[in-house]
Amino acid sequence: MDRRYWNEELETLAWSEVERWQAGRIGAALPGLRARSALYAELHAGLPDAAPMAGLAGLRDLPFTTKEHLRAAQDAASAAEPFGRNQSAPLADIVQALSSSGTTGRPLYYALTRHDLEVFSDAIANTWYTAGVRGDDVVAHLVGLPMVAGGLPYADGFRRIGATLCWLGGFPTERILREMRRLRASALLATTSFGLHLAEQWESVGRETGLPSALRKVLCGGEPGLAQPQIRERITQGLGIASLRETMGLGDVVPAMWSECEQQDGMHFNAQKYVAIELIDPASGEVLPWAEGATGELVYTAFDREATPVVRYRSRDHALVTGMGCACGRSSPRMRCIGRTDDMLIYKGMNVFPSAIRDLVATRFAGQVEPMLRIWKTQQDQVRFDDPLPVDVEAAPGIEASRFETLARAIEAEVRARAQVRIAVTVLEPGGLPKSAYKNSLLALREPPHPEPVASAAASRPSQAKP
Ligand SMILES: [Zn+2]
Repeated sequence: MDRRYWNEELETLAWSEVERWQAGRIGAALPGLRARSALYAELHAGLPDAAPMAGLAGLRDLPFTTKEHLRAAQDAASAAEPFGRNQSAPLADIVQALSSSGTTGRPLYYALTRHDLEVFSDAIANTWYTAGVRGDDVVAHLVGLPMVAGGLPYADGFRRIGATLCWLGGFPTERILREMRRLRASALLATTSFGLHLAEQWESVGRETGLPSALRKVLCGGEPGLAQPQIRERITQGLGIASLRETMGLGDVVPAMWSECEQQDGMHFNAQKYVAIELIDPASGEVLPWAEGATGELVYTAFDREATPVVRYRSRDHALVTGMGCACGRSSPRMRCIGRTDDMLIYKGMNVFPSAIRDLVATRFAGQVEPMLRIWKTQQDQVRFDDPLPVDVEAAPGIEASRFETLARAIEAEVRARAQVRIAVTVLEPGGLPKSAYKNSLLALREPPHPEPVASAAASRPSQAKP
């Protein structure tokens, strides 16, 4: 009864075959897309008429789409086209609006037709299925806002699988924890930082309610924290579960596209039926081959989207490919998100992600420091560093202050050896980093005369909706 895959044919087909099939769909979709979307009529103006595409290499002749393109298109909204110049379906056919989280400016809106809703719920169900959710699960859905990507679309995905949706998002934390016990919730979806937050209180609520935990599966994402074994351990131990799967998506494309299988070793791509992916060098725009160890920016083409489609959309999410092929039988690439372009720093001409430094320190110095840090900058818009990056880390409880100096030098040496980046570490007493560092924000500004931190946190800025 319990089948292994949501879409066995596509999920197990050789990736080169999947790409070939996608290229055919893209070639067929382009003429209609250019006719319906003023944005793409303009972006693709002067290009030859769309011809049948033999492979995804055919995409390389097309320009990228950026967030700025979508923002400008949205700004041209009118009464007939509230979604602006990329509204590619008449209002009569549009049944839902979705909002970006708006963490980096005015929110952007995306439209869905009935067909788009169908595409979303199937792709998201596929993503949850890979992450282990099944029809007999009782799922606590903890995203608070229905209109964001993680709201209604995520809920639709759970219902599509046949799981029992319990939308507890929006309630106070104590109520969420109590009702999860009463509803015998077997699965939970939250951001990584909220998952950590719940893990800290799960036991005590259990004692209070006297009800045993039915929780077995936890899906976390929105932030790259799960790359750290220490964070994983805190969540699995605190919530008393073995199955912890990372997930990721993008509201502009499909809100949940990536998720970990039972190997729990990097996220598979699960939206291949509707979305094509490319990996590019963010500086040159050159397409990189999918291969274990490759890093680059993820670029998406949604070829089965009616209302607000995107072609070669630059996500600003940077991925490290953790593998091609997998013991689970899925053929799609597996990756970890290592950071956002927005968070990227440049040390002596080299790209550096604060989250990558944090993951390195947390992994190599587990038990000695907390899995978070803060990088200081001298100006708000500073991106380039020629001197060692000033970094604060917090000592783990029980580490003597007399060891701080030695520990700081050891961390500096390790980061220099493994990431070729020089940092200048200050070890703080336990509790020395602000509690907000456990939350999502990387940009907790401090008043002068102190320099401003560019990065802190157990988890980096989310690229998808958060609870
Ligand atoms: Zn797998």
